[in-house]
Amino acid sequence: MASSKFPERPTLPTKEQFDLCFAETLDAQVEAMKQGKRPFVALLIGPDNRTVLLKHFSISHVDHAEASLARLAAIHYTQEYLWTCALYSSWEPCAMCAATCYWANIGRVVYAARETELLQLTGEGNEENMTLNIPCREIFAKGQKDIQVIGPVEKWEKHTVELSDKYWRPIRENKMA
Ligand SMILES: [Zn+2]
Repeated sequence: MASSKFPERPTLPTKEQFDLCFAETLDAQVEAMKQGKRPFVALLIGPDNRTVLLKHFSISHVDHAEASLARLAAIHYTQEYLWTCALYSSWEPCAMCAATCYWANIGRVVYAARETELLQLTGEGNEENMTLNIPCREIFAKGQKDIQVIGPVEKWEKHTVELSDKYWRPIRENKMA
């Protein structure tokens, strides 16, 4: 039986809802990049698997999109409600962001591209992003909540990598020069 902080989870998104949410996520990343932000973005999707409740760009190397969104979500919504919501992100949340989703009690995390791909894109030793090589599932596995994780998703991972490379390529090449 579900306890108060862990109500029944809503149904999984349909393929159509899933694609619409990812399309919104990638659109938000395009917008973030136009604004000169780093190529990361996170959306909070409601229990209907469709409504965008909140959106966040990356603020800085310490205020990542996903953790910032999870903190904002915890201000706006109850833990009970957040358990029925999903955080969508273009990139797999890092250890800090996964842990913040855990503390905010967001019940589902959906991401397009895996963190190992990000390391490929940024290049090793990139001071702009010293990627932490820890899958978010490993963080959640250490917790006491059954947070659902969906990702990587091949079709959307490809889009995410191509889009994000527009930001990372010049930095990577400049470093190699
Ligand atoms: Zn992060």
